[in-house]
Amino acid sequence: MLTETEALEHLLARVQPGPAETTRLLDALGRFSTADLLATLPLPGFDNSMMDGYAIQAAASADPSHLISVHAEQPAGIDLHLTCPPGKAVRIFTGAPMPAGADAVIMQEDVELVDDSIRCREPVQPGENVRRAGADLCRGQVMLRRGEKMTAGIIGLLASQGLEKVEVHSAPRVAVLSTGDELRRPGQPLEDGCIFNSNGPMLQALLAGLGIHEVRTAHCADDLEVTVSVLAELLASQDVLLLSGGVSVGDHDHIKPALAKLGIRPEIWRIKVRPGKPFLFAQSRHDERSTSTSIFGLPGNPVSAFITFHLFVRPALLRWMGASDVSPFTLMAGVSGRLHNDGDRPHYLRGSLKDGVFQTTGLQQSHALYALSQACALLRLDPGQTLEAGDAARILLLNTPTG
Ligand code: AMP
Ligand code: MG
Repeated sequence: MLTETEALEHLLARVQPGPAETTRLLDALGRFSTADLLATLPLPGFDNSMMDGYAIQAAASADPSHLISVHAEQPAGIDLHLTCPPGKAVRIFTGAPMPAGADAVIMQEDVELVDDSIRCREPVQPGENVRRAGADLCRGQVMLRRGEKMTAGIIGLLASQGLEKVEVHSAPRVAVLSTGDELRRPGQPLEDGCIFNSNGPMLQALLAGLGIHEVRTAHCADDLEVTVSVLAELLASQDVLLLSGGVSVGDHDHIKPALAKLGIRPEIWRIKVRPGKPFLFAQSRHDERSTSTSIFGLPGNPVSAFITFHLFVRPALLRWMGASDVSPFTLMAGVSGRLHNDGDRPHYLRGSLKDGVFQTTGLQQSHALYALSQACALLRLDPGQTLEAGDAARILLLNTPTG
């Protein structure tokens, strides 16, 4: 049985970034850049006013009795190439280019208007209320590195450069396959002993959190022949196959035998982690296309499927999508009460995080979906590890913008 670290290292070595594609800027949200992007325009693009007011030479504002004549007006959206000689002022508006010679803007609230002149009630300093060209971003500066994520802020920044399109790594074609005779879809009668399929929608939601929205879904019964044919069909068209259930060694667990029939050998099977031990990873080569399909077999128990998605599938998918950083988002928090792991595998506890304190949410068992639904954080306890109330621990955050 592999440790989490060994399993993750193996996965990240086996999954390669997918192809590049050029998309409209907005469609790149959540994707990862294929290249370093350098600014071609500085920000601000030119010296301009931060306020509605008067452009002056700051020294002229020192004497509150002194009258400064306003000799011109500079609106935003056009550069009149004005100059501001000593002792003169130019009426100016937010975002308008600074006249040559002026080194400050006095806010209109801080002046007294006397005919065509102003009196400065407050002195201004050189540079005050002036946005200098390139102070935020210089031409040639890196805006986004290869492998970094296109966030809303980055999309705004790229738009400021006049970019309409951008090259990112594509998202994988993913299928979610739910296995089990007991699974029913909404609207179907729920006979005794049956349950509604919750893993399928949950995995789709987790994929959507990574920006993977178009997902093929499938179900297969606990039957070897059916499993073989459903797998073969999905493998032919998908980059990634996420399946849940049927990966153990019960008489009704057909994933391993079905993969064997297709000539696919599991590279990972079972990981030393709780919940989530019966996890499987395999790859199916498509030599004619020089591509492969990555197969992730998640445990059927909902919490185990959720945890293994976060620990192993998420980083692998991020690698596929070209992300340079595939690590989860973590922070330090205190724990609300005593926590102990008396098992022989690391245990990921599910909990809430309030005012910097982690508290487990309900039943900590691998089928306990309600308790999971109330959690926004995971806490990893090593075998034998005990934490007392108030102890600090590293918490892995769920439901973050980074998925
Ligand atoms: P299995 O790994 O197939 O033995 O499934 C383990 C447990 O997970 C069983 O209680 C299954 O009913 C449950 N399970 C499997 N697949 C799903 C699913 N898609 N949604 C909800 N529960 C599931
Ligand atoms: Mg099953």
